[in-house]
Amino acid sequence: MKSMMRAIVKSEAAPGAVMQSVPIPRVTRGSVLVEILATAICGTDLHIYDWTEWAQARIHTPMVFGHEFCGRVVQIGEGVTGLNVGDLIAGETHIPCGECHQCRTGLQHVCQNMKILGVHTPGAFSEYAVVPQACAWRLPPGTDPHVGTVYEPFGVAAHATLIEDLAGKSVAVFGCGPIGLYAVGIARASGAGMVVASEVGKYRRDLAATIGATHVIDPRDRAADERIMELTHGCGVDVAIELSGNPAALRQALSSITRGGRLSIAGLPSRPVEINVVDDVIYKELRIYGITGRVMYDTWYRVANLIESGVVDPRPVSTHVFRPDDFLSAMDTARSGSAGKVLLSWR
Ligand SMILES: [Zn+2]
Ligand SMILES: [Zn+2]
Repeated sequence: MKSMMRAIVKSEAAPGAVMQSVPIPRVTRGSVLVEILATAICGTDLHIYDWTEWAQARIHTPMVFGHEFCGRVVQIGEGVTGLNVGDLIAGETHIPCGECHQCRTGLQHVCQNMKILGVHTPGAFSEYAVVPQACAWRLPPGTDPHVGTVYEPFGVAAHATLIEDLAGKSVAVFGCGPIGLYAVGIARASGAGMVVASEVGKYRRDLAATIGATHVIDPRDRAADERIMELTHGCGVDVAIELSGNPAALRQALSSITRGGRLSIAGLPSRPVEINVVDDVIYKELRIYGITGRVMYDTWYRVANLIESGVVDPRPVSTHVFRPDDFLSAMDTARSGSAGKVLLSWR
């Protein structure tokens, strides 16, 4: 095997990134070496690329970044069981310690010593990556790598959407980036009745309608909560899922939920948000779930079942595919709002 590979490197503590030739990482105990077939660009990658405060607090340069990937196992590290050379895998991003209170009680995805692949450890925007066994989810042979690479963000949507049963319920999704779009598709496929998608971008509202929203609203035309009250005859929705990170959207989500309803929050506001706890939480007996990543591995089994049965097709959300050499255009496209998921095809 060759010794060098192409990789997208965050080379300096400043905005930007460069394609470089770097050594192929060595497989370590408990890990596998993966030949990367496809990767997808996440909001996190844009933070790293743009070198926002969030990235400055976490990233040590130089580093290969990128964490949504699909690849083929080419080498097995010592102590790895249950994986073979040639296996096609999707990547879990959370690297749990395996020893803390959370890891020992089935909550690995909120491990106290969590490391994130592509944030705290070298990522996958490269021809090869070393992946801990815990982060390798085996895919059926023949899976399209462009589908395999979105299991990770699709999983965030599945965790946010399915943390409680929603069959026969009304649902509102706030923010229709890729995760919001997957949430719309998952809600519909899981038996929700009305699925309202609230999104400021026309391109993404159209995608939301394609993937299964029964109603699509532009919150800039009129407050989304007023429109949702009208659609639900003054009752409000049973379930709201906040994926925009916008404080106004979070407040609209809270006020559009019916009494006894449920809210999942996965969108990250950039600063603390003020909400009406008395009217919108206590008197409603609202159940609020913070959502981070995917439950390991309950969410993964759900994702595999939803996608591999054909019940939810994530492909319409993947609107653009670029060659890795064109990653600058890919980043611009992902940032533009006139795109769903943007992929990089490495083979
Ligand atoms: Zn991501
Ligand atoms: Zn842990």
